Amino acid sequence: MAHDINRLWEQDKAHFIHPFTDFSVFEKEGCDIITESRGEYVFDGKGNKYLDGIAGLWCVNIGHGRREMGQVMAEQAERMAYYSPFNNLSNVPAIELSAKLAELAPSNLNHVFYSCGGSVANDTTIRIVHYYFNQLGQHDKKIIISRNNGYHGTTYVSATLTGIESNNWGFDTADQFVHHVSEANCYRRPEGMTEAQYCDHLVAEFEASIQELGGADKVAAFIAEPIMGAGGVLVAPEGYHRRMHAVCKKYGMLYIADEVVTAFGRLGHFFASEDVFGIQPDIINCAKGLTSGYIPLGATLLSDEIYAVISKPQREGAVFSTGFTYSGHPVACAAALKNIEIMERENICANVRDVGPYLETQLKTLLDLPIVGDVRGSHFMMCIESVADKATKALLPMEANVGKRIAEQCQKRGLIVRPIAHLNVLSPPLIWNRDTVDQVVGILRQSILATVESLIEDGHYQA
Ligand code: PLP
Repeated sequence: MAHDINRLWEQDKAHFIHPFTDFSVFEKEGCDIITESRGEYVFDGKGNKYLDGIAGLWCVNIGHGRREMGQVMAEQAERMAYYSPFNNLSNVPAIELSAKLAELAPSNLNHVFYSCGGSVANDTTIRIVHYYFNQLGQHDKKIIISRNNGYHGTTYVSATLTGIESNNWGFDTADQFVHHVSEANCYRRPEGMTEAQYCDHLVAEFEASIQELGGADKVAAFIAEPIMGAGGVLVAPEGYHRRMHAVCKKYGMLYIADEVVTAFGRLGHFFASEDVFGIQPDIINCAKGLTSGYIPLGATLLSDEIYAVISKPQREGAVFSTGFTYSGHPVACAAALKNIEIMERENICANVRDVGPYLETQLKTLLDLPIVGDVRGSHFMMCIESVADKATKALLPMEANVGKRIAEQCQKRGLIVRPIAHLNVLSPPLIWNRDTVDQVVGILRQSILATVESLIEDGHYQA
């Protein structure tokens, strides 16, 4: 379908408020407009084709343009697009999806609450955690511990949970019940510490914070991404999650796993918490890959123990009064069921377990390039950190915009990667094979070399 791209480009700038945008740049440069997508590729309206290195935004896990996804949504929309989930009414896709999620999730997570995305799932979770402890008569147990550089969304409470400082510049936050501890950043851990010592240090800091905040009487929960995503694709030291989980149990706290990115195959399993990290969280949140981004849907998976408490009326005639018009939306739930069916039928998790380690190894070959300080991540969740000096790990000046430069060089060569300051993130569709990986690593090598030249030319870097 032909579009008047120039007109759309103007209208975009005039009317569409994009998330996370520097409007001074946007108003000058506008955006590239993606008009079509198929398999591993997206296309702009100017005839350019790009390999999608970021699966949209960590979400198009089964790849783009799957006809059967469109069909199942169209069929459900025709049959029964929407009806209320309130007042003792239900719908078939939501019921079937809930049962399927209970089957796929760690064994005690058998109850699902639906929202429309990750931020709202996290926000709702905190409301449910507070409600849970109120039901137990623990009215002062309200504090949620999150981590610096964690990303949990941008609704009011999830933005407060988010620990990326710049994300909240200019905004207010609900600080009264959120506390942040250090993130687990193995690359930038204190000099001289082994990874094992670093893990001890982080766990000790966590426990000390709980005690300072008032211990078991005051601290309700810990929230963490299994691998920190937007905060820099940070993989915690071996044993970290198990030990943080054990501390939570010691203080009667709930462990909330924010699996908005890691669930649905990105690390080679439907859920990473138990299969990759060996823990059974009390709550898992997912979104994104749940429908592979074909339609918005978020899900909060609650344990049997939590359900047993929150399902009791808090007073005569009272109801569990939280939820949304679109909780368990039939079209979105039908899409999620089809997405899971495709993942199972094509053994997509097995592809990630097979190709993921190859992607890691091949990306690590880039470490010989002058500005590549670290290549990290796991399976289909990877990141390249650029530095000015590999020995000191000093960063290039902010205004050098190294992540953006690399992303632009990649785009010229037909690959989309995500820049975040001095980082470039790769979170591809889970259908990549080894040939695609080779092509991508080749483009990255050329693009980083071209970036080094441009940094030297502009006086930001000395060879
Ligand atoms: N949690 C994590 C770990 C995320 O990465 C994101 C989004 O990237 C969110 C929550 C927020 O999800 P959404 O943008 O769907 O609200």
